[in-house]
Amino acid sequence: MTRFIDAHVHPPVQRFLDGPIADHVDRLRDYLGEPIKPQTPEEVADFYRSRDARAVLLGWNGHARSGRRSLGNRDIAELVGHAPDVFYGFGAVDPTGGAGAVAGIHQAARLGLSGLSFHPASERIAPSDRDGRQLWETAAEHGLVCLFHTGFTRLGAGAPGGEGVGLEPARPIHVDRVAAAHPDLRIILAHTGPLWLDEAIAVATHKSNVHLCLSGVSPKAMSPELLELIRGPLMRQVHFGSDYPFGSPDSWLAEWDSLGTSEEVSRTILVENISGLLAR
Ligand SMILES: [Zn+2]
Repeated sequence: MTRFIDAHVHPPVQRFLDGPIADHVDRLRDYLGEPIKPQTPEEVADFYRSRDARAVLLGWNGHARSGRRSLGNRDIAELVGHAPDVFYGFGAVDPTGGAGAVAGIHQAARLGLSGLSFHPASERIAPSDRDGRQLWETAAEHGLVCLFHTGFTRLGAGAPGGEGVGLEPARPIHVDRVAAAHPDLRIILAHTGPLWLDEAIAVATHKSNVHLCLSGVSPKAMSPELLELIRGPLMRQVHFGSDYPFGSPDSWLAEWDSLGTSEEVSRTILVENISGLLAR
């Protein structure tokens, strides 16, 4: 039986480290205190398989401005192909890409991916921007889940000008209008929007098609109010993610276990909710 599904994994393969996040790798190393070790797809799969777990691999749009290669739909589909018993895949398209982005969404569906991952801070475009409408409609048509990184990001953190990364496009409230206009679109707010946690909670409470991914949120640091929501009214809209390799599923789960949550709630958050989202 699957013990947990890690819904937020950035596959630390060489082409990711040399590609879309190449400009940020040095600073991420300083932040994490150690370099991010490149791994093969098999190593990542074994890591999860040995824990009776599965992982959702996220693509990353390198976007034209950065000049960096994306970890795109095909890359993610290929990675999933290395271990389809372990991996699910979310592709990536450039949300500023117009017709090309829409074609990319059709492609993600053809490749059998489960969703798409966006990073509004690094992409410098809010999900509510007019340019996005066609994208969200197309994703909804195919039943592809759209994940948005929200809130504070470690990308560029501590550098003068944050290496050009602005935080504002990553406000959860920018997703609210998308969720309202596309009630069939299933949406994930990753990291629950640190800086704007209240906004993330408000959007998920108001819109049942919005789910919160707890990646980047340490269980021990959760406020009693957040825990009450997770175990109560929002229980069906919250799931676990670790942000691997920037976060560790083992430490998150150890902290979670120490909170003494019931078996039923844990199973819902660690497996069932994200399974429901992944079933197209
Ligand atoms: Zn992430």
